[in-house]
Amino acid sequence: MPSPWLAYGCAQRVSTTMRRPIDAAASAASAAFADWRDLPAPERRDILLKVADGIEARADEIAFCECWDTGQAYKFMSRAALRGAENFRYFAEQVVQASDGQHLKSPTLMNVTTRVPVGPVGVITPWNTPFMLSTWKIAPALAAGCTVVHKPAEASPFSARLLVEIAEQAGLPPGVLNTVNGFGEGKALCESPLIKAIAFVGESRTGSLITRQGADTLKRNHLELGGKNPVIVFDDANLERALDAVIFMIYSIDGERCTSSSRLLVQDTIREEFERRLVERVDNIKVGHPLDPATEIGLMVSEEHYNKVRRYFEIAREEGATVAAGGMTVGNEGYFVRPTLFTDADNRMRIAQEEIFGPVLTSIPLATEEDALQLANDIPYGLTAYVWTNDLTRALRVTDKLEAGMIWVNSENIRHLPTPFGGVKASGIGRDGGDWSFEFYMEQKHIGFAIGEHRITRLGARGAST
Ligand code: NAD
Repeated sequence: MPSPWLAYGCAQRVSTTMRRPIDAAASAASAAFADWRDLPAPERRDILLKVADGIEARADEIAFCECWDTGQAYKFMSRAALRGAENFRYFAEQVVQASDGQHLKSPTLMNVTTRVPVGPVGVITPWNTPFMLSTWKIAPALAAGCTVVHKPAEASPFSARLLVEIAEQAGLPPGVLNTVNGFGEGKALCESPLIKAIAFVGESRTGSLITRQGADTLKRNHLELGGKNPVIVFDDANLERALDAVIFMIYSIDGERCTSSSRLLVQDTIREEFERRLVERVDNIKVGHPLDPATEIGLMVSEEHYNKVRRYFEIAREEGATVAAGGMTVGNEGYFVRPTLFTDADNRMRIAQEEIFGPVLTSIPLATEEDALQLANDIPYGLTAYVWTNDLTRALRVTDKLEAGMIWVNSENIRHLPTPFGGVKASGIGRDGGDWSFEFYMEQKHIGFAIGEHRITRLGARGAST
């Protein structure tokens, strides 16, 4: 197997002897762009549908790679692999109408709009659910007619390679999808003059760097960044269902998900009972080997991340919160931590403000609806929020005022691909999903056709009226 630290493109291996891998990949994407853009849309669609078939056929292998790379449980990674196929299938079906526009007739002109792909784009992805997130960006970019240079996270290089193999077998032409693993390649990708846009998923502070690095080449950037998302539970909610959703949204996928509900804002009338039941369930969660089908939480992705997560166990104690469940590591081998619940927390504490990105929930009491809004919005992030109430008018009032790009009422996060995905504040800039993805990967173009011989102002024409 070739080294994962080399650039490789579909069907055509890129030579890395003379240039930086990212430059070689950007050149390959640039050279392949015109032919891919001009391929009849139904042919592009059919190739992407074959990629979806290929992902489904190798879903187990992809899930295994994800478990190996990230330590996350097979239980969740097997679904994430299939979500990758759904992403390809969904965007493949949009290919034919992606370039459609409007006609906007004026008295003198027949104005027509159309959409064209922006050109070769860079896709930079993080280590959490790496395969699914990569397909979420790459599928619409290819569907739009862009060619892609993909830079996966250093910690999780393997499944991106499988995607290239699958794409090659599906008939994706050489140079259309190029993957470069390695350290520091993301910066070079942002700086490449051949790359017209960067779709980035990762931490908020890296998002700032992406913007800075792309300034000289005027990059178009889409940033999907971090979150510290509130789940608000009012005392009139269906508490049984709220409990299930709160647990699922912070402890599944090792809590390493941007949309996790890591801040529980629970009304004080039900707080004690709700937290008691939470502790009971959290203590039952099975931490274990990622490939054991019974495992609910696997390992933290790396030693660095493991140390970060367990440092918050100390921070919680230093800040005076109660460690009601977990707050400890497991065994002497591997980066295992117990799922953790902090109670008696204050929204100003670090455990309430900082993205821990592990199976760690911070519970904060609230008294009124006004408290709920104040606490929920008192944070630099604004990715998702979850509200549990059976009072419809309250749900309308609260969702209207919540500062978040995505809100679910009486539900966990269930993605529907045509809906917009993205955050506000430090959680990101831009949206994807449905047609929003094409808005990013494509340019609007306007063409005005004169209908007749309208009057053109005649500068410099002697004796003529202007
Ligand atoms: P990260 O920002 O450290 O790295 C993400 C990617 O950026 C990696 O591929 C990395 O190599 C690359 N990178 C790092 N420095 C770069 C630079 N200067 N220029 C270009 N690329 C650079 O993030 P991570 O630790 O891999 O992932 C976890 C973060 O991702 C969390 O904050 C999480 O909330 C966020 N995330 C957000 C979403 C979302 O949709 N909003 C989804 C998943 C993850």
